[in-house]
Amino acid sequence: MQPSVLVVEDEQAQREILAYNLAAEGFRVIEAADGTEALLLIEEETLDLILLDWMLPGTSGIEVCRQIKAKPAFRTIPVIMISARSEEVDKVRGLETGADDYIVKPYSVIELLARVKAQLRRSRPGSVGVRLVYEEIVLDAETHKVFRGRNELKLGPTEFRLLTTFMEKPGRVWSREQLLDRVWGRDIYIDTRTVDVHIGRLRKVLGHHGEVDLIRTVRGAGYALG
Ligand code: CA
Repeated sequence: MQPSVLVVEDEQAQREILAYNLAAEGFRVIEAADGTEALLLIEEETLDLILLDWMLPGTSGIEVCRQIKAKPAFRTIPVIMISARSEEVDKVRGLETGADDYIVKPYSVIELLARVKAQLRRSRPGSVGVRLVYEEIVLDAETHKVFRGRNELKLGPTEFRLLTTFMEKPGRVWSREQLLDRVWGRDIYIDTRTVDVHIGRLRKVLGHHGEVDLIRTVRGAGYALG
């Protein structure tokens, strides 16, 4: 469940440093050199976070941020604005546009990575090792162990990623296509029926005799936890 981070930065050397350090932390990194490319990639990729330089040729970072936050499908993706401008008024403007955080150049890579992880702890907690709890189920992303009450549940790697996805957003309905993107990755072609097979396995491990399934089938839409 590697989080995908889009780095939008026109200065190649800076972009490469960011990409290198993010990849070293285990992130999947996608790079864009300007705002137009960034907006295309946002449509194409399933992203977990966007690092966005303010000063870009053509469409400015602030305009890119405004456009991302105006679209319901992308609004929840955390955006961290990177700017060479340290004035308080710029910071306020950045955050008013909907950016989730704001960091000033020159920044330390350690600080930037800490801010990235802080955002992901809220939006994708399972991807940064946070323990997830839903009713009596506890999923420890660090040790890859899952418990229901006192009993450890044995899950395969795909079922583990499925359960992580569900537990990050209890109640959210996921379509089969969204689950394929999130759990299997967008680059691999897999039939949507594969999702049903793994949901079946997950239910079998989670389920207790006589109880309602924790994973709910939403007719015509997909699956949800609870
Ligand atoms: Ca720039």
